[in-house]
Amino acid sequence: MFLSQLNPGQRERAIAELAAEDFDVLVIGGGVTGVGAALDAASRGLKVALIESQDIAAGTSSRSSKLIHGGLRYLEQYDFRLVREALHERELLVSTLCPHLVKPVGFLFPLTEKFKERTYVGAGLALYDALRGFQRALPWHKHISQKQIHEIAPSLRPDLVTGAIKYFDAQVDDARHTLSVARTAARHGAIIATRVRAESLIREKKRVIGVKATDLVSGKSLSIKATVTVMCAGIWSDELHEKFELKAGYGVTMSKGVHIVLPGSAIQSNAGIILKTPVSVLFLIPWGDKWIVGTTDTPYTGERAEPFASREDVQYILDQANRVLTPPLKAQEIIGVYAGLRPLVANNKGSETTKLSREHTVDRPAPGFVSIAGGKYTTYRIMGKDVIDLAVNELHTLSPDSVTEKLPLVGADGYFALVQQVDRIANESGLEAATVTHLLNRYGSMISEILELIKNQPALSKALHKDLPYIKAEIYYAASHEGAQSVDDVISRRTRIAFEAANHGVDLAGDIAAIIAPVLGWSAKNRRESISAYEDLLHRETQALDQLRVAQEKVSS
Ligand SMILES: Cc1cc2nc3c(=O)[nH]c(=O)nc-3n(C[C@H](O)[C@H](O)[C@H](O)COP(=O)(O)OP(=O)(O)OC[C@H]3O[C@@H](n4cnc5c(N)ncnc54)[C@H](O)[C@@H]3O)c2cc1C
Repeated sequence: MFLSQLNPGQRERAIAELAAEDFDVLVIGGGVTGVGAALDAASRGLKVALIESQDIAAGTSSRSSKLIHGGLRYLEQYDFRLVREALHERELLVSTLCPHLVKPVGFLFPLTEKFKERTYVGAGLALYDALRGFQRALPWHKHISQKQIHEIAPSLRPDLVTGAIKYFDAQVDDARHTLSVARTAARHGAIIATRVRAESLIREKKRVIGVKATDLVSGKSLSIKATVTVMCAGIWSDELHEKFELKAGYGVTMSKGVHIVLPGSAIQSNAGIILKTPVSVLFLIPWGDKWIVGTTDTPYTGERAEPFASREDVQYILDQANRVLTPPLKAQEIIGVYAGLRPLVANNKGSETTKLSREHTVDRPAPGFVSIAGGKYTTYRIMGKDVIDLAVNELHTLSPDSVTEKLPLVGADGYFALVQQVDRIANESGLEAATVTHLLNRYGSMISEILELIKNQPALSKALHKDLPYIKAEIYYAASHEGAQSVDDVISRRTRIAFEAANHGVDLAGDIAAIIAPVLGWSAKNRRESISAYEDLLHRETQALDQLRVAQEKVSS
């Protein structure tokens, strides 16, 4: 049995194996599509490696709206097949693959008119519910009267909102889920190495037989040999096609989406809210004791690794939400902000190598090389299956079919039973019951590894900060089991302190560095460098928000 732990010792072994072994499949990209492909291939019994140039989920896969949904907007486009497929994935994720991570969430669709709108929206949501077939993990939609809506959501303007329809989708911590898929792939034998960048292709005549890469930690070059290379590079696809001198069958353009995070007190509602906007929809999504509100949809051509929110992005979100909210949201209330880039895929004219299925495209621009881009988070498993179905043709042997539909992620086994044992675990570990529930919702049955850490180092049971749910053991575990290699990895992706904590967690960076330093073998200098790298990133990321806050303060004073 392989281990699922990702840490410095595992990385060192992974780098050695990347250079020494011949793989069936090499995946480029550790977003949800890449780790989904690696898991699909490894669980078919193939010999798999995955390289990621930054951290797992550092690209789009940590910056989404974090919804696992069928996509109401596809109903308006009459794309019922797409909706049905995404709803099937939603059901699988909530009930079988990772119930500890993917949770149902209710949304209110506010109505501003009494009859026509209710009939139209009601019919749409009835169809949405019907398209999931006989699967029933989430409740059916229900109509909410004018009187009820103001009890359920006092923040919705009583002079405007005449009622609502409540429906259900699901939500997930995207970065944590992507990491869990990566760890599950590792458990099934995939070699995973972050901070390894693909630079060029190794070719034998016309066939691609691997990749030349750089280990960004040591600066050393690596030659990785694989029968088929699978590129899952999202918004980096065009850049890599050019670098690899491939004539690709599709192009990827980028669209920026921004979210803001607000304290729970900013919006009084016991369910999420969805609003139609002139260009798309705006979600007000409950996130623990906070709200995530977004998103925008604007063309983008800037730096891929660091998309930042502009002042206009944040103002747009506030304006759209404030159409229906009372009292209105203010810039000063915003705790966090993040921006992500959607990979929008379009087949090149006359392409003979691509197959545009659903929202994503698979391509085989050269023998021994296949790629995939587009799609959405919810359907990552299908994307992984589709690209590996194409990749196995290159192996010229019979390969088993995908089994990921029946393969729970690490932490899912026994989750429902553990939920019934919160009090027992709390008594035995000395943790609060609320902390045990928090841990179960992040690690599932892997909670045992956290409890083991606490047993050996009781100080790790303490809270990282009184206003946050995280305990110190989770920070340690991020480096010892979850492959975190920097303060940013821990603050931005293993936890979501970057947008959940006051001052974006910068005041906690020193404590976090101190906890992970022994695991990563850091000197005092390494600690300082990692802290200041996070501070620099934060400065660039939050400039626009700071300007907007200052401008609003001037107006209100
Ligand atoms: C604002 C926003 C909101 C969204 N909301 C939702 C939602 O609610 N629900 C939903 O279903 N979908 C949503 N999506 C879509 C979803 O987030 C994306 O489709 C998905 O995350 C894309 O994953 P990916 O793995 O294809 O790309 P990425 O996550 O970007 O992964 C690509 C990876 O490739 C790596 N890479 C690049 N170059 C190299 C190289 N040379 N060597 C090695 N690695 C390399 C990158 O570092 C990156 O980690 C949203 C998207 C956005 C932007």
